[in-house]
Amino acid sequence: MATLPTPRGTLTAHRPLADLTWLRVGGPADWLFQPADEQDLADFLRDLDPGVAVFPMGVGSNLIVRDGGLRAVVIRLGRSFNGIEVAGDRVTAGAAALDAHVARQAAAAGRDLTFLRTIPGSIGGAVRMNAGCYGRYVADVLAEVRAVTRDGRVVTIPAADLNLRYRQSDLPQGWVVTNATFRAPPGEPEALAARMDEQVARRDASQPVRDRSAGSTFRNPVGHSSTGRPDDTHELKAWAVIDRAGMRGARLGGAQMSEMHANFLINTGGATAAELEELGEMVRKRVSETQGIALEWEIMRVGEPAA
Ligand SMILES: Cc1cc2nc3c(=O)[nH]c(=O)nc-3n(C[C@H](O)[C@H](O)[C@H](O)COP(=O)(O)OP(=O)(O)OC[C@H]3O[C@@H](n4cnc5c(N)ncnc54)[C@H](O)[C@@H]3O)c2cc1C
Repeated sequence: MATLPTPRGTLTAHRPLADLTWLRVGGPADWLFQPADEQDLADFLRDLDPGVAVFPMGVGSNLIVRDGGLRAVVIRLGRSFNGIEVAGDRVTAGAAALDAHVARQAAAAGRDLTFLRTIPGSIGGAVRMNAGCYGRYVADVLAEVRAVTRDGRVVTIPAADLNLRYRQSDLPQGWVVTNATFRAPPGEPEALAARMDEQVARRDASQPVRDRSAGSTFRNPVGHSSTGRPDDTHELKAWAVIDRAGMRGARLGGAQMSEMHANFLINTGGATAAELEELGEMVRKRVSETQGIALEWEIMRVGEPAA
C-alpha cells in the first residue's frame, strides 16, 4: 500500500464502511481520512500520490459499497464542515451539514429550502447528486460551491459549471465539496415549518423510511411513452414499471424490493452488497424483458466484489 502524507486529522487503515452507509453493507476502505479542516484536506490531497484513488463520502444514503470494499482513500468530512450561515437570501452550508438541518435552519431565518427537509443525505451528497423532491432540485437554488481539487487547490465553482441535471453533476472525480451557497426564496417561518411537517408525514405514509434503504434504486425512465403515441414522451415512474414487471416484494437472500414502494431496495437484515446488487440486476432484466425499458441505477455502486 502507498505511503500517505501525515495529516492533522484522523487517518485509519482498513476501515470497514458498512456502518457508515444507510444500507449497512460493504467491505473496508484501504484508508478513511477525516480531515481536521479545509486546509488539512487541501495539504493532504496536494501531497498524496496522484495515483491513489480518492472517494469523498457523505452519509452513505445513496451508496452500495461492495463487499470487498474500496481501494481508495475515502474522505469523510466531520464537525468542522457542518456550519450553516444565513445572510440575506444566501444560505451557506458546510458539506457535512445534513440536508434536514439546513432546511430547518433556513426556514427559521425565513428562507425556503424546504425541499431538503426529507432528503436524508448531507450537503456534499446533495450537490453531487443534484438531490431534490416535490418538484424542486439543488439546481434551482445553488449559487456556488467551494471544493478542494484532487491536487489540493481550493476553488470556487459557480453552479452553472457543474452542469446539474436529473440526479447527476459534472463534479470532477476526486474533488471534495467543502461548502455550498444557495440563493433561497423568502417565506414565513411558520408556513415553512408547516410545509416541512406535511412533507415528513407524506414521506412516512409512502416510503419505507424506517427500513435500511438508499432511497430510489433506479432513475425514472425518461423519454418513454406511457400511451404508445410517438408524440407522448411522458415520464414513467420507475416504481410503476417494476410493479408491472411483477418485482414488487421480490427477494434475494436478505435483499428485497420493498412492498411499500417498489423502487426501494432494502436490506431486511444480513443482506450482502452482492445480494442487493444482484436483486437490482434481476429487476433490470425483468423490466427489460417485459417492457423493453432499460432501467438505470440511481444508487451509486462502488468498490470491489468480495474476493
Ligand atoms: C429513505 C431515503 C430517501 C431518499 N429520498 C431522496 C429524495 O427524495 N431525493 C433525492 O434526491 N435523493 C433521495 N435519497 C438519496 C440520497 O439521500 C441523496 O442522493 C443524497 O443527496 C446523498 O447524500 P449523501 O450525503 O448520503 O451522499 P453519499 O450517499 O455518501 O454519496 C453520494 C455521492 O455523493 C458524493 N459525495 C458525497 N459527499 C461529497 C462531497 N463532500 N464532495 C464530493 N462528493 C461528495 C459521493 O462521492 C457519491 O458519489 C434518499 C435516500 C434514502 C435512504
